[in-house]
Amino acid sequence: MKRSIIIHPDPRLKKVCAPVADLSDDLRKLADDMLETMYDAPGVGLAAPQVGVLDRLIVLDCVKDKGDAPHPLIMFNPKVIASSDELNTYEEGCLSIPEQYAEVTRPKVVDVTWIDRDGKERKETFDGLWATCVQHEIDHLNGKLFIDYLGPMKRQMITRKMQKLKRDRARV
Ligand SMILES: [Zn+2]
Repeated sequence: MKRSIIIHPDPRLKKVCAPVADLSDDLRKLADDMLETMYDAPGVGLAAPQVGVLDRLIVLDCVKDKGDAPHPLIMFNPKVIASSDELNTYEEGCLSIPEQYAEVTRPKVVDVTWIDRDGKERKETFDGLWATCVQHEIDHLNGKLFIDYLGPMKRQMITRKMQKLKRDRARV
């Protein structure tokens, strides 16, 4: 089932999310719904607060080429445990900030631990777009958006555009 995505600015996008203690069927269903919502958008990542749930859960799939097999990841309690000194700059976007893009610099390689859909502990090294995406999504769980990396002028400009977008959408 598709969920609706919250658009910035919204207080729920500024909250620190709670760790998941027990993997319930409800949480698995939420994760599956989030993947469906993400693919439909389309996007490469989605965090639970973006659908109004303040739990530490993200989903991602950074396979960009249509011909390649999808590689969906569901991460409960994801955590960056190591990051490279080497940095990487990508033009980032966000499903909660539609059609706005800006360059953000982050560590190029990160080691991440998480609990998967089956409740198993996992650890993987991510590089390139995957590294950027997983860091962007984990930021969401700490109430942080990619526009928080930008200067105040640019951030305000984007926020005003989003306020206008929300007003326009509310009118229809
Ligand atoms: Zn985002």
